[in-house]
Amino acid sequence: MDEMEEKAETTRALARRFIEQIAVSRASMTPPEEQELLLLLEQTILRYPHQDLSRAIEGFYHDYRILCERYGLPTIKTALMELRIMPGQRFFPQPSECAEVAEEIVKRRKAEESKANAFRPCGKCYSGLVRVVKEDGMSVMRECQCLRDHKAGQRLNPGLHVVDFKSRSSGTA
Ligand SMILES: [Zn+2]
Repeated sequence: MDEMEEKAETTRALARRFIEQIAVSRASMTPPEEQELLLLLEQTILRYPHQDLSRAIEGFYHDYRILCERYGLPTIKTALMELRIMPGQRFFPQPSECAEVAEEIVKRRKAEESKANAFRPCGKCYSGLVRVVKEDGMSVMRECQCLRDHKAGQRLNPGLHVVDFKSRSSGTA
């Protein structure tokens, strides 16, 4: 066995050990999510064969689980993928690096969503308001149908995908 093969074998053994360790600790993630995170971290380990992760990996796994609970697995997945191809990324991404990228992703997504959800008046009203003449001849301002539809849409679709962990941890959501 040459040196390269030996290294690859060591890495594979480490990945196996990692999986075994993790199988012991299970908590709030669903089993499929757990499997997906494991696979993702395992693939990431294999990208840094020069790095001895045997001491760090348990801590990493613990921290990455917290990140998944905070940002959701899809966001952490995207963040890790971005980190893996980032220029100069020569080591297994630290959970804190991943958290930074996850914050960026959430920010980007919120900006996109607020853009997509922005209210656009139908053009026949004044910024969503219409003047209605009541039976007694008095006129009042009412919400136009376009504004009502917009509000109903927001209720049906409140900031999807974004985990608001601030309000979640304070128990208001
Ligand atoms: Zn309107």
